[in-house]
Amino acid sequence: MSDLPAAMRSALTERSRIGRLETRIEQVSTDGTRKRLYRLPDGPLIESVLMPYADGRRTACISTQAGCAMGCRFCATGQMGLVRHLDQGEILEQAWRFHSELARQGERLSNVVLMGMGEPFHNYEASVRAIRRLSSDLGIGQRHITVSTVGLAPAIRRFADEGLQVTLAISLHAATDEERGAMLPINRRWPLAELIAACRDYQQKSGRRLSFEWALIAGENDREQDAIRLAELLRGLSCHVNLIPLNPTRGYTGGPSSDRAAREFVAVLEQRGIPATVRVRRGIDIDAGCGQLRDRVEAMQA
Ligand code: SAH
Ligand code: SF4
Repeated sequence: MSDLPAAMRSALTERSRIGRLETRIEQVSTDGTRKRLYRLPDGPLIESVLMPYADGRRTACISTQAGCAMGCRFCATGQMGLVRHLDQGEILEQAWRFHSELARQGERLSNVVLMGMGEPFHNYEASVRAIRRLSSDLGIGQRHITVSTVGLAPAIRRFADEGLQVTLAISLHAATDEERGAMLPINRRWPLAELIAACRDYQQKSGRRLSFEWALIAGENDREQDAIRLAELLRGLSCHVNLIPLNPTRGYTGGPSSDRAAREFVAVLEQRGIPATVRVRRGIDIDAGCGQLRDRVEAMQA
């Protein structure tokens, strides 16, 4: 900007920056998954992941908070507690970074999932604004955006009124209040009956198919009876269940289900008319589970 006076240019250099995320670490997995740890200007660390797929899709997984207040037992982010909310710019910039880097290689960021660190609906306004800008500013179709929530029932109802065409994913992981409450403390505030009622209302209003996330934990929630209860719970909803073998974390003793248990779980659901897919764990060699890279870095620094 050489048309500006020199004094103003140096003042601008001192006081302003384009972008607020400083890359601290980047790891690339053998499967091409690219994981980044960013530092925010005031210090907190957040993670973003880019996943390339053989069919050409390029999916960014982005964070909405540094840490998380929800305290889910098996989650590395939950184990660290909430550091702070991200603002809409900090959420968007994570996707924008991948978007512009891919564009330089003649590729396109095609999908975004709000499934990194944090609970998007606990940081509702910033997350929804960032979602709108993902489509308006980065040209990502709303149908290619997924927002995942631990199940804040009132926020699910509010989200139904936004008129967005994005996919809503609900992290379920257990089909009884007792089991879900032990894993996901938020279930004590909004138990399953309320959560599923909010999901039904959301579906009626939005007409969108729902996704449900289920981390398969060996011997905990991967038995036949768990699948039967899950199918009961979801009866009548248009939905898809995503089964993800647990990524072990430092603060939780559980481990992932075997392939066989996962296949049997799918079969029970499908017999009952619930479509389900076992998701491949991406970037497992680079701690690509939610909050795990930061966790590893802190452990090394300790
Ligand atoms: N807070 C939101 C979105 C971020 S977490 C939510 O909870 O939905 C994204 C997904 O990763 C959630 O389904 C969450 O339950 C899951 N997850 C967290 N820790 C995990 C782990 N160790 N193994 C497998 N899935 C995990
Ligand atoms: Fe937060 Fe989601 Fe982790 Fe639960 S699973 S602690 S809601 S980031």
